[in-house]
Amino acid sequence: NGVVRFEDVHFAYIPERPILKGVSFEVPAGHTVAIVGPSGAGKSTISRLLFRFYEPTSGRILIDGQDIADVQQASLRKVIGMVPQDTVLFNDTIGYNVQYGRWDASAEEVREAARLAQIDRFIGQLPEGYDTPVGERGLKLSGGEKQRVAIARTILKGPPILVLDEATSALDTFTEKEIQDALDRVSRGRTTLVIAHRLSTVIGADEIIVLDQGRIVERGTHASLLAQG
Ligand code: ADP
Ligand code: ADP
Repeated sequence: NGVVRFEDVHFAYIPERPILKGVSFEVPAGHTVAIVGPSGAGKSTISRLLFRFYEPTSGRILIDGQDIADVQQASLRKVIGMVPQDTVLFNDTIGYNVQYGRWDASAEEVREAARLAQIDRFIGQLPEGYDTPVGERGLKLSGGEKQRVAIARTILKGPPILVLDEATSALDTFTEKEIQDALDRVSRGRTTLVIAHRLSTVIGADEIIVLDQGRIVERGTHASLLAQG
C-alpha cells in the first residue's frame, strides 16, 4: 500500500498564472520517485497539493486509488510523513526531539530511528541554545544533522508514504552525501517522493521526473537521463 498517483493535475495560485499544467505520474508502493527541475518549476507545489494545502484546479490526486479530495487533512498526515525544510528543535534532548509526537514509542524504537538517520550518538544531548541548569552547553548541530533529527522523527512515526521536500538543498556536498545515505536507508520499503534541486542527490531513485514550468519534460532513471544529456 501507499501508491501515489497524480492524474493530469492543473493548478494555479492565481487564476491568470498557471503553475502546474497537466502533471501525471505514479509512485508505485515502496518505490522512490524524485522530482527535479529549476527553481520555480512547481516542485514544492506538488507536495503542497499532496498535503491538501491547496486543491488542484483540475485533475485528481489519488492515494491507493482514493481521491484525496475526499480525505481529511488529519488522516492524510497519518499516511504521509513529511520532512520539513527547516527543523526547529525543542528545548529537550535530541532523543526527545526524535520521539516528539510518538509518546508511546519505546526507548529501543527511538534509538533505532535515530540510528537509521545516523544521529544516535547525539541522543542524550541538548540542542544549541538550550543549556542545562548546571551550565552544560547545548550541542551545535549542522543543518544536515538537524534535518536528520527530523528524518528520525518521521521514521519513528512510520507512515507508509514519505515526502522529502528540498531535503538536500542548501547543504554542502559532504553533508548532502551523508543525508543522501540516510534517505537511501529510510526510503527503503516505503513509498517516497523526493523533491530535489539537483540530479546528483537522487541517484538512487527508481524514477526521476524533470519538471519545468509546470510540465514534465523528461522522466527516466538517473543513468538514462544522463545518457540523454
Ligand atoms: P519550486 O519548488 O519548483 O521551486 P514552487 O512550486 O515553490 O517551485 O513554485 C512554483 C511557482 O509558484 C513559483 O513561480 C512561485 O513564485 C509560485 N508560488 C509559490 N507559492 C505561491 C503562492 N503562495 N502564491 C502565488 N504564487 C506562488
Ligand atoms: P496529543 O495530541 O496527544 O496532545 P501533542 O503532541 O499535542 O499530542 O502532545 C503530546 C505530549 O507532549 C503532551 O503531554 C504535551 O504536553 C507534550 N508537548 C506538546 N508540545 C510540547 C513542547 N513543545 N514541548 C514539550 N512538551 C510538549
